[in-house]
Parts: sequence; structure tokens; C-alpha cells
Amino acid sequence: MAPIGMQPTPLSSFCSYWKGRTPKLAVRNALSSAFPDLATLPLPIDVAGLAKRRGIREIIYTELQSDGQISRSPSGDYVVYLHSAQPEPRRRFTLAHEIAHTFFFEARQFGLQRYMGDGALPSRDPEEERLCDFAATEILMPAARVSSLIRRQGYSANTLLHATQKFRSSLRSTARRLGEVGRFKLLVHFWEQDVSTGTFLSIWHEGIGARARAEGEPSVVTADQPAHKTFSSAEKFRGRYWLSLGGPLEHYFVDGLLLSAKPRRILTITILDRLAELLPGERVEEVPQQTLF
Ligand SMILES: [Zn+2]
Repeated sequence: MAPIGMQPTPLSSFCSYWKGRTPKLAVRNALSSAFPDLATLPLPIDVAGLAKRRGIREIIYTELQSDGQISRSPSGDYVVYLHSAQPEPRRRFTLAHEIAHTFFFEARQFGLQRYMGDGALPSRDPEEERLCDFAATEILMPAARVSSLIRRQGYSANTLLHATQKFRSSLRSTARRLGEVGRFKLLVHFWEQDVSTGTFLSIWHEGIGARARAEGEPSVVTADQPAHKTFSSAEKFRGRYWLSLGGPLEHYFVDGLLLSAKPRRILTITILDRLAELLPGERVEEVPQQTLF
């Protein structure tokens, strides 16, 4: 309950409506109340099917300034607009994100603060947006299913590729999820070779500490570094390599996979654990190369 004289914030209304001590717990409660079977649905999750169950009666693909939008009709159902030019994994994520907004609509409508709008979403609340992203990840890549995939298939770049197909999710969002859910601290890097200098630059990275370093300089593997030879020639590698990942050169345990040859693009998973060598590597078959990134 809010202290006397203070208005409840939209988030506290959301938490009290979905009976969660924290906003994230409230999101989890909303999900398990709306989709009690989420843990057993076939993969990839049928997001459009879930949207229907939340009263989204129409999904319209069109040109948009943003990834997606949701609006509410006077009769109480929803229409979602998705940016047609986005790749499918991203559209799936956006649809799951818009589904999450319906939990906020519902809480506003029945909660302590009545929703005063007339159909369109109120102005974007950054915290609500973050929670909708959190919900979208929970919908598309349920934690228990991601961990069981890692348990079965091991910690490797190939497992990550396999997961993007299983969950039909983007490489980057799957990398982030692996970092959140896995039992070991890990960093995932997507490298591309600069054809003129031969240097490998990290285009993006996800995992432990990635957010803190997101604004910093990309990691590089220059021609004079020991790992450069492996990066330039191997199709697959696993073991200890000297790399600089946002700091001095360190002897990291890395599992890498060549994604494309021209330009050379490499996916690496760095396992930040003393016992990394003992972890099972890959147990999945080769994943056919597709347009995953
Ligand atoms: Zn949103």
C-alpha cells in the first residue's frame, strides 16, 4: 500500500493487480495466469496463438517508425501493428512485447489507477517497456527450457545457433538469454573481420557485464595477437585463448564457430569459470547455416 498522501505509481498498481512483490514477479504471475501451459507448449512458441488468447484480434503488418504498436478498441480487444520490414525473429519478439502491454492495460483498467485513455497506449513509460521486453523473453525462451537445452547440448557456439532455431529467436536475444539462464558466467561475442586490416572487431556482445561495457570500445583481435591465427583459419575451436575482452589480454576459455567466410564472421562463447574445461562441449549436430543475424 502506498504511504498516506502519496499516489500509487502505475508500477505499484501493476504489482498489486498481479500480486507480485516486485514488477518482475508481477510479470511472471501475469504470464502464468494468462498462459498456464507456457512450459509445455511446443517450440517455437506460437506467439500469434498466445496473442489471440489475450484478446488481440488482429495483427497488421505495415511500415512503422517503431518495431510495433498496440491499440485497444472501444469493445475492449486489441490490434497490434508490426513493422513488416523486420526479420521474423524480431517480429516474434515485438509481438510478445505487445502481448505484455495487455497485462498493463488490464491492471490499469481494474487497478488503483484507472486508465484514462481512449484506445491508444499512454505515453511510453521506459520501465514498462523494459518489463515488456522481460516478458517477451520469458514467453519466447522460457528459462526452464533454455536451461534444459544447455544441459542436454552443452556450452558451445553451436548450441547457441541450435537454440535460435529451436526458439526461432534472433542470435543476439538468444545469446543474452543464455547469459541470463546458464549456470556459468559467459560472454558471447559476434566478430567480423575488417578486410582491409585483417583485424577482428566485436560487432556486439552479450552476457555477464556486457551491459556495463556496451558503450565502450569494441573488443579487437589484431594480427599480432595469439588468437588471430585461429580466428583467421579455424572453422571451429574450443580451448584456452589469449584474448582482450574489454580489458588486458587474458587466457580465456573460448568456444568458437565460423558463421561466414566472406567477410569472416565468428561467434564465440567465453566461459568465465575455472572449471570451464570440464563442461561438456557440444552434443548437437551441425546447424545448417541460415540467415540468423
Ligand atoms: Zn512497448
